[in-house]
Amino acid sequence: MGGKQAMLARWLERAGVTRARLRSGPRGLTILAYHRIQDLADESRFAADPELISASVAEFRRQLSFLREHWNPIGLSNAMDAIERGRALPPRSVAITFDDGHLDNYTHAFPLLREMNVPATIFLSTLYIGSRDPFWFDRVSTLLFCAPAGLLRLPLADVTLQLSDVASRRAASDRLLSVLKRLADDRRRDALQELEALLGHHAAPADAAPASALNWDQVREMTRHGIEFGSHTVTHPVLSMQTEERVRFELSQSRETIRRETGQSADLLAYPVGKTYTFNDRVVAIAKECGYRAALAYIDGVNDPSCADRFALKRIAVERYIPHPLFMARMTFPGIFV
Ligand SMILES: [Zn+2]
Repeated sequence: MGGKQAMLARWLERAGVTRARLRSGPRGLTILAYHRIQDLADESRFAADPELISASVAEFRRQLSFLREHWNPIGLSNAMDAIERGRALPPRSVAITFDDGHLDNYTHAFPLLREMNVPATIFLSTLYIGSRDPFWFDRVSTLLFCAPAGLLRLPLADVTLQLSDVASRRAASDRLLSVLKRLADDRRRDALQELEALLGHHAAPADAAPASALNWDQVREMTRHGIEFGSHTVTHPVLSMQTEERVRFELSQSRETIRRETGQSADLLAYPVGKTYTFNDRVVAIAKECGYRAALAYIDGVNDPSCADRFALKRIAVERYIPHPLFMARMTFPGIFV
């Protein structure tokens, strides 16, 4: 992405082009995808995956202020109601979403969403909610961050990783995660156990770390204040790589748990990882069977209500350190700034 887009975005903002464009468009439903809202004092000491931090608290406040001023924040279910009934959406409709169910969604994002009266939908991987176990992808990053330097051979994942400085550990984590995300659930579990057996004693035990996910009391409190919850499966696998039986379990069990714990209908789904390879016709058919009304991908773009594929809704990812002019430009000129 880099500096050129940020420079162009800054120039467009200074020249008034972004603001002029905001008065007329863009049309359609914009959905923003966040993960974590967190201040990082020193990223080089942060063991979990810093890529999952979408914004600092101050930056998130600034983004919400921009949305309140220039856009029309809408709850995702309300947007789906309008789309299903063929009703027009307000101009510049934007829905905010969070994936996974990280604790900071409650401690950092929720107070600001409440204060600014912006609706949001949080997609939960239900196995982790109320558990002390870290999300498996965070545990992988943490283990590689804390591992001794040198070559690390992982036969079950069939990779060899070189660990030295922080950058090499981040790169190793990216590489291993991309392998693990593609494995069937039982093979991924075995590969994670292998990693834990090799490296677990170099890091704090998983269950000794502070909770990293939401608990159900926090979910229910947010529900009472208008936050909506959807499914991000039970264990966060790549669905296209799982057996039909496993996909059905991941989609039905997570939905049932959220319904039981919140009383909400929980009929929205966000595919884990969400790139094109992570869902297919089979996954979509099972999602429909399980009663979902829409599913969100992690593919950049804005949704045209008249023809959007409701089981592959696009989202604009909000990434850490995104400069504010670039945030504005990515929303205002979708497809140009990606
Ligand atoms: Zn996720």
